[in-house]
Amino acid sequence: MAELLRREKDNFIYYTAPQLDAYRQLSHAFFTRAGGVSEGVYDSLNFRFAGEDKYENVIQNHLLAGQLLGAEPQNIVCTNQKHTDNIRVFKDTVHEFDANEPVDALVTNIKGLCLTAYFADCQPIMFYDHKKQVCAIVHAGWRGVANAIAIKTLDKMHEIWGCEGSDIIAVVGPSICRVCFETDEDVPAMLMETYDGYVSEYIFKKGDKWHVDLKNITYRALVQWGLSPINVSVSSLCPACTHQPELWWSQRRNGDERGVQGAMIMMK
Ligand SMILES: [Zn+2]
Repeated sequence: MAELLRREKDNFIYYTAPQLDAYRQLSHAFFTRAGGVSEGVYDSLNFRFAGEDKYENVIQNHLLAGQLLGAEPQNIVCTNQKHTDNIRVFKDTVHEFDANEPVDALVTNIKGLCLTAYFADCQPIMFYDHKKQVCAIVHAGWRGVANAIAIKTLDKMHEIWGCEGSDIIAVVGPSICRVCFETDEDVPAMLMETYDGYVSEYIFKKGDKWHVDLKNITYRALVQWGLSPINVSVSSLCPACTHQPELWWSQRRNGDERGVQGAMIMMK
């Protein structure tokens, strides 16, 4: 378990995980707002197509971020996040797909394919199997934690390539913390349905509201699946209560008038 490292290059401010940095054939980044071309509430590295930002600016932001990782523009593939447990697999070749189809996780063994997901409180999760040379990116908000999309992505990696827990590095990027994630009873109820009794250790009642520690639920679920605890990093950064709000969009803090951060991973 290690914290993410803050990095600056050109106008970008982004974070990387030391455990993934150790592999020279891999590039990855959890981006902040800094380094893009968008303006106003989308200033500046906005990855969100669904807002009011100019389409060409969002595209340009993808390309600039991809460039930082060394990705060719045509090799950037993105999620279409709808809090589903749909996973898109690119095995050996990039097949055609319906871009309108909801998908919250991407997996590949293709070198040079840059997997991209978005986050603004939700968890961006990266997986890398250094033996089988497979990487994945997952978007998981509380619904994604409740539908166990991260676990289903690991299942998929195991099923297709025989990936084993002992060879997989996992990184959970900046995402909402237990203090900020205040909910009604429906969230704990859905989490209880998915996970065995242990999930109650990460749910706290405060007055008539609930606080849920999604970071540790994910951590526990990954270790339970078979990942080695030392290979799972969970960032303590929270976009909602960060001391640098100018660097982060947060759904809790900004409401719907905001952009989203991007996260990218690619095997070179
Ligand atoms: Zn917080």
